[in-house]
Amino acid sequence: KRQQKKLLLDMHDESRDFFCNCLGHAVGETARQYLERRGMTQEIIQAFQLGYSPDDWHGLDNFLRSKGRNPEDGVEAGLLSKNQKGNIYDRFRGRLIFPIKNLSGRVIAFGGRIITDGEPKYLNSSDSPIYKKGEHLYGLDIARQSMTRTRRALLTEGYMDVLSLHQFGYTDACGVLGTALTKDQVKRLAGFCSRVDLVFDGDNAGRKAALKSSRMILLHGVACRVVLLPDGEDVDSLLQAKGRDGFDQCLEQASNGLDFCASYLQSQFSPREIMDWARNFLSELSDDSLRAYYLPRLAQGLGLAETEMRMTAGAPSRTPQTHQPKVD
Ligand code: ATP
Ligand code: MN
Ligand code: MN
Ligand code: MN
Repeated sequence: KRQQKKLLLDMHDESRDFFCNCLGHAVGETARQYLERRGMTQEIIQAFQLGYSPDDWHGLDNFLRSKGRNPEDGVEAGLLSKNQKGNIYDRFRGRLIFPIKNLSGRVIAFGGRIITDGEPKYLNSSDSPIYKKGEHLYGLDIARQSMTRTRRALLTEGYMDVLSLHQFGYTDACGVLGTALTKDQVKRLAGFCSRVDLVFDGDNAGRKAALKSSRMILLHGVACRVVLLPDGEDVDSLLQAKGRDGFDQCLEQASNGLDFCASYLQSQFSPREIMDWARNFLSELSDDSLRAYYLPRLAQGLGLAETEMRMTAGAPSRTPQTHQPKVD
């Protein structure tokens, strides 16, 4: 089993080399132009080992074969796909490639962004014995050093957001990559820092994700702030357009995580739903002193009575979330 993992890791190194090579050569011309158009520097492209997967059904497939690899192992690695007839082909075609690495910097998966028209915009490796979605954070292998120094993590949504943050000097930034922030990811971050600043997109999806993520972070007793971006912007578009000054202004106005939850809830939910959320949050806290700390703050933020909220706090039964949030 250990040998199988080593094999998969080695195949990822070879694939990374293949994708990097493609980006650097004639076949990668369009991808290089794409990166330039988006303001990505050579330093960042190299530091994050970006690559390109040619628009070809058997580019990586043939390359791995030429290295003596068994295509079936490529499928298990999540790098190649297999159709119903049993034919094996490249999973990533015509995409900008972002290697996803573990804490020790080994490549364990890839993300790919389409650079022409097409769906889906982003595609990731499928889960494999060395990669489980929701366990890893993009860029953490690079950001961890800065995090231990600043004691802060800037947590953002996407690949390009992480790249731009690093490019502009925010080297304690990493990314969740589309999925909701998981318990595992929070624990991982808590090993390097004592506060997480969320920098999610300035759209409904981003704000919804900020609520869920700040809740998860606060439940683990880690301090949290929420940076609100202007409507329609993400941190990548903001930095590329307005530079550090533009983003620093947003950072200065960041709200405390619990206060953000309170005001977001009030703007989106009915009183009944808000009470459900608050009770559920408090009941999921395993730490009494943490609950004693959050309760008055949350009550004040929501303009509710502490006693009413406390009623079910700590009770084993969870308040069912039967209500749908109002859509605006
Ligand atoms: P870009 O700036 O290149 O358009 P983005 O990062 O701003 O990309 P979003 O739509 O805001 O794109 O999505 C945020 C992140 O969510 C992406 O970077 C990616 O990691 C993840 N994501 C988005 N769409 C998908 C998808 N269809 N499949 C898997 N992951 C996705
Ligand atoms: Mn978005
Ligand atoms: Mn973007
Ligand atoms: Mn975005």
